[in-house]
Amino acid sequence: MSHHRHRKLSLLTPSGHLTLGNLLGALRPMAAGQAGAECFYGIADLHALTTPHDPTALRDAVREMATLLLAAGLDESTLFVQSRVPAHAQLAYLLECTAYTGELNRMIQFKEKGRGVDATRVSLYTYPALMAADILLYRPRQVPVGADQRQHVELTRDLAIRFNNTYGPVFTVPEVTVPPVGARVMRLDDPTRKMGKSDNSAGVVALLDPPDVVRRKIARAVTDSDAGDDAVRSDPTKPGVSNLLQILEACGGSAEGVTTYGALKRAVTDAVVAELEPLQKRYAELAADPVHVDGVFRAGAEHCREVTAPVLAAAEAAIGL
Ligand code: AMP
Repeated sequence: MSHHRHRKLSLLTPSGHLTLGNLLGALRPMAAGQAGAECFYGIADLHALTTPHDPTALRDAVREMATLLLAAGLDESTLFVQSRVPAHAQLAYLLECTAYTGELNRMIQFKEKGRGVDATRVSLYTYPALMAADILLYRPRQVPVGADQRQHVELTRDLAIRFNNTYGPVFTVPEVTVPPVGARVMRLDDPTRKMGKSDNSAGVVALLDPPDVVRRKIARAVTDSDAGDDAVRSDPTKPGVSNLLQILEACGGSAEGVTTYGALKRAVTDAVVAELEPLQKRYAELAADPVHVDGVFRAGAEHCREVTAPVLAAAEAAIGL
């Protein structure tokens, strides 16, 4: 079975506005990792249908995310929208016919987010089969995932092995690898929680927030009441201050000579605004040229359809279709 050593794959769900956390923890490393690799980066619009959604808002979120991925410099990668590559949904069904309810019942995300709730969408339950299809269609050798996605990739491996043993060797069984620990940006208003794109709060910096909004959000960031000489330091007992210091450093700033929380917040604001400015400028240019953005994603989906067609065809033939 062939596999692709230098292939990288990642899908982002358009469930809100991309945040500073997404930039520092995902988009920046994705852009930096393009050299010498064959990268596929997708917008997982099908996954966004697993929880209550508004069609117009979803379409807008996909367009914003598409434009931001390009603005973030991912133009050397194959960029695509998941639903434009029908093999994802088609293979997901074959994997639903491979998975057991016992396995899906054990998925932590489903247990936490939807089990036992009558109005939970069936697709939230079967989501791991779609995620397995997202991966297996591209035959990557390794799948680097954070702790929260590990169980899903383990299931992907189990399904690939079961399918191969039952019907013949179709899938490359991917290895789960732990990515190098990157920046984990926490909410400004609650530094014990991850800055997530689904929470629309004053503690979340969105990539398209104008400078005055960034300034206001950082000015209100939670610190603590310690005002001693060495109050500005990274320390597990000071999660708010540590988070600000991490953001400052990741955005190329320095806390050299900074002794007060006010000065720290000003330094963080300047660094974040400087980090976002070129991205927002590029975003504005691209947003004014939607034909170009659409063209990039159309070509990307076409390439994905070509790459995935033989894998889907082999799976269909093996399972008896
Ligand atoms: P999510 O927004 O949770 O769907 O995650 C999309 C990508 O962004 C994943 O690679 C996450 O690891 C990364 N990511 C999301 N939120 C953060 C955050 N607050 N800090 C660092 N990375 C993040």
